Amino acid sequence: MIERSAVHIMVLDDEPFMLKLLSRILLKLGFTSVMLCENGRAALERIADTDTRPNVILLDLNMPGMDGIEFVRHLVDQHYEGSLILVSGEDERMLKTAEKLVQAHKISILGYLHKPVKPAALSALLEKWAPISSGVARLAKSVYKAEELRAAIENGELVNYYQPKVAVASGEVVGVETLVRWRHPTGGVVFPDEFIGLAEAAGLIDALTRVVFAEAVTQARAWQEAQMRLRVAINVSMDNLASLDFLDFVTELTTRTGIAPQNVVLEVTETRLMQDTRAPLEILTRLRLKRFRLSIDDFGTGHSSLAQLRDIPFDELKIDQGFVHRAWADETLRAMYDASLSLARQLGMEVVAEGVEDRNDWDLLRRTGCDLAQGTFISQPMLAADLPGWMEGWRERVRTELSMA
Ligand code: C2E
Ligand code: MG
Ligand code: MG
Repeated sequence: MIERSAVHIMVLDDEPFMLKLLSRILLKLGFTSVMLCENGRAALERIADTDTRPNVILLDLNMPGMDGIEFVRHLVDQHYEGSLILVSGEDERMLKTAEKLVQAHKISILGYLHKPVKPAALSALLEKWAPISSGVARLAKSVYKAEELRAAIENGELVNYYQPKVAVASGEVVGVETLVRWRHPTGGVVFPDEFIGLAEAAGLIDALTRVVFAEAVTQARAWQEAQMRLRVAINVSMDNLASLDFLDFVTELTTRTGIAPQNVVLEVTETRLMQDTRAPLEILTRLRLKRFRLSIDDFGTGHSSLAQLRDIPFDELKIDQGFVHRAWADETLRAMYDASLSLARQLGMEVVAEGVEDRNDWDLLRRTGCDLAQGTFISQPMLAADLPGWMEGWRERVRTELSMA
């Protein structure tokens, strides 16, 4: 049992009647700290203030002005660390899709409720709220300070891991994605979700990306010399694309290292809302003109993925893992997966499915003609030194277990 009075709950709904109703239900259930908001803007102001920041938000999806999905985008920008419960009169499918979107943003979601809300259902979801368990990873987040990260970047504490991307039809390993880790002097291996946001917020993302990029192209050169033909992908934050220096850095270093731009993939995610999209647009277009490969990452979760597709000539589309794993078993996921695949096809882009975790996922990709696969079914991210050995094992698996000749 949780201490109900210790849970600070915000109810966000445009209908005053719903606000009243929900607050009454909550009080009856023993939740005494309840704050009511009629629109997203007012809610965000209170979330920005540490004194009024809630632990749980009951969020109405359908609101005029800022709707529930847009509101979630802002929660991501504000690094909201509490939980969400979605409330809507929409059908099951809509709520499920919205739930997937929230999960893709890595915001903790306790579940969703249909209107009219039943007290028992609400109570059951709130019981799932656990300050410790949901807080472990997130608590760690605030442990790292910008200064510490700056030093880590300068002292070489960042290490690149590489995860294979394989052709679904042949099993051939066509490339790797670079995923950075922080080998923390005392905290063990720290994952990017715990420091990329910090790097962006603290203005360190440019330094970070340069270190990761430099190590990746150096590694690409070594593979090239060992006759391993691999494309190397690097994750690029929208913030990297704010200044033209980045373009020069990438172009010069790639040329100097002796790597063809065709073998360098830049995976772009829109992690936050862009104020001014002119610079990124120009930089991406020019990188493309220089024959770098552009990839739109986490497709299906971004705020303006479609607008980006319209404006930027991407070569590759990565379907977010949230729409890949178990898509064979869930018709909503399957619809998102199919739609992304066919959109990419029509735009002549290569498609990568992320989050391929088991044989069923892999078989779906085979059946639907997806180009490339990435995920733990194929391999976890690994150190460069482990790649040759893994490739040998993978070829063997392709011949035997996956029987693809
Ligand atoms: P991403 O680019 O979408 O990378 C894929 C993430 O999914 C990686 O997490 C990878 O380890 C994980 N993953 C791979 N296979 C599976 C699977 O089968 N199932 C599941 N559930 N997950 C799988 P990771 O390494 O923790 O990276 C998280 C995110 O951090 C990346 O997402 C990327 O957006 C960001 N990131 C990583 N390295 C960099 C970097 O150098 N610069 C920037 N700006 N962002 C980075
Ligand atoms: Mg990526
Ligand atoms: Mg991704």
